[in-house]
This record gives sequence, structure tokens and C-alpha cells, in this order.
Amino acid sequence: MVSSVRPHLNQNLDHRIDDRVDPAVLQSRVRASYLGLAIGDALGATVEFMTPNEIRHQYGVHKEIIGGGWLRLKKGQVTDDTTMALALGRAILATGDINALPIAAAFDAWMRAKPVDIGHTVRSGLIHYRRTGITTAPEDEMSAGNGACMRCLPIAIATLGASEAKVRQASKVQAHITHNNPLSDAGTETVILMIQALFCGQPLNQQLHHYAHPLATKHPEFCFRKRPCQNPSGFIGHTLRVVFEALFDTDSFEDCIVEAVNRGGDADTTGAIAGVLAGAYYGETAIPPRWLKALDANILGACSEQAEQLLSLRCLSE
Ligand code: MN
Ligand code: MN
Repeated sequence: MVSSVRPHLNQNLDHRIDDRVDPAVLQSRVRASYLGLAIGDALGATVEFMTPNEIRHQYGVHKEIIGGGWLRLKKGQVTDDTTMALALGRAILATGDINALPIAAAFDAWMRAKPVDIGHTVRSGLIHYRRTGITTAPEDEMSAGNGACMRCLPIAIATLGASEAKVRQASKVQAHITHNNPLSDAGTETVILMIQALFCGQPLNQQLHHYAHPLATKHPEFCFRKRPCQNPSGFIGHTLRVVFEALFDTDSFEDCIVEAVNRGGDADTTGAIAGVLAGAYYGETAIPPRWLKALDANILGACSEQAEQLLSLRCLSE
């Protein structure tokens, strides 16, 4: 008897047929995904480091982009999640390729420009690069933060159509500059493969069986739905548990992001990653106009523009 074959992470998926996706539809999904990153970041930053209870007391349900928060942001302002992704995207576009050195230099320039916030692991990774010129942070069991994952979208767009092996390799190039950790790698690569599958129109429930559950089987840290992950820290396991619960257990772009950020904790980052996936799945027409209006106009323009430019680059597709 032939036993059933479980789908697993390195299975060859039909989302490689991205050439069969209507180019206008694809473009719109990619733009929505980049806007979702910025929207989730801007919405979540207001309640970053708050507990779900504190959020409930202050806002009921937090669902308007109003700025504030511990960073005292202007309405519509974004944080490191979006601005590091934009820096990564610019480095890829400047060289037409995914190379560690120009990406590390772009991150370093980003840090010099005094961003509104910066994660501990990002800072020490970039200081390591500044001191040594080495573009791989020392491997660190403790650095399974979400900093590499939060900024991974440009890799997903630029490598659309490439083999899974090349996608995973490209992911590590940018990730290891600051986060050299197997859990961070596994989570970030899974998110990238999910984004690409959603760009190509793969249904959401397939994502569960191709990516989310197999990731949780391999690494129990990502096991979601056992009980809701509330008040998530910056640990990649917490982050993706919130993101998966928000993505799979809601049915709109708005509800997905609102669900993620109202868990509090590292809410700008759960919001940003949930926004990327929800944007890729639900598309531009699902984005509430009030959120687009509230978002910083320069950021909105930069995200839309970079989405299109990275999509036309497609540097590793064979
Ligand atoms: Mn942030
Ligand atoms: Mn954060």
C-alpha cells in the first residue's frame, strides 16, 4: 500500500507558473502587498508594546491610523519595518541583483540616518558589519528575532519565478547581515514562499498545508492555534503565530491586520507581516481607502513605485 504523501516545505509548487498570471493582476497584488506592509506598520506602531487589555481600555478595537504610540509618531508615519524594506529594495534595484555588500551598505546608511526605531539585533549586526566589513552576523542561538522577516518583501518580489532553492539562498543573503539564526531563516523563507504563492493566486487554505503547518511541524516554536498568542515579543515564533492566526482566521484585508495589531506586543511588526500577506492575497481593491488616505504620502508613493520596479527586475528567475 502506498502511504499518503504529506506536502512538505521543499515540494515543487505550481506557483512557479507565475507567467500564467495576468500581469495587471500580478502588479496589483504586489503593490497591495507593499502597501499592506506600510499600513500594518503604521497602524500597529500606535499600540506597540501595549498589552491587549491596555489596547482595549484605550481604543476598544484599534483600527485607525492615528500615529502616537511610544515612538510619538505622526499620523501615517511608518517605522523600521517599512523603511528597512525600502532600503533593501533600493539596494537590489541599484545593482540589479541580490548581493550582500550593497545591501549591508544600504542598511548601514539607513542606520546612520537615525531611523525612528531600530531592533537590538539589527543594530549589533550592522555594527559588526561596520567594524569588520563582514556581511554575515555571527551565528547566534539567541537572535531569533523578527527583524529579517519584517523587511523580506523585496526579496519575495525580486525572486518571483526563481527556484525554491534560489529563493531560500537569496533570503539568507539579506537576513544574515543581521540575523544569522535557523529559526529566523525558516520563518522568513516560509513567509517569502507564501507571499510568492499568493501573488500567483494560490488559494489561502493551500498555504496552510504547504507552508504554515509544515513549518510548525518542523519547528514547534511556530505552532499556532493551540491558544492565541497574545502580547507577542519580537521573537520570530511569536510573530508568525500571530500572523498565521490573523491571516487564516479572518476573511478580509482589514480584519487580518486589525486582528494582528490588537494582540499588542510587537504590533507594528505583526501588523506589517500580516499586511504583506493580506495584501498579496486580497489585492488593492480590498485596502480600506481611509487607510490609504492616512498613510504618509511619500511612503505610499515609494512603496507603490518600488513594488513595480522590483517586479520588472525579477533578477533570479530562470
Ligand atoms: Mn518597527
Ligand atoms: Mn516592532
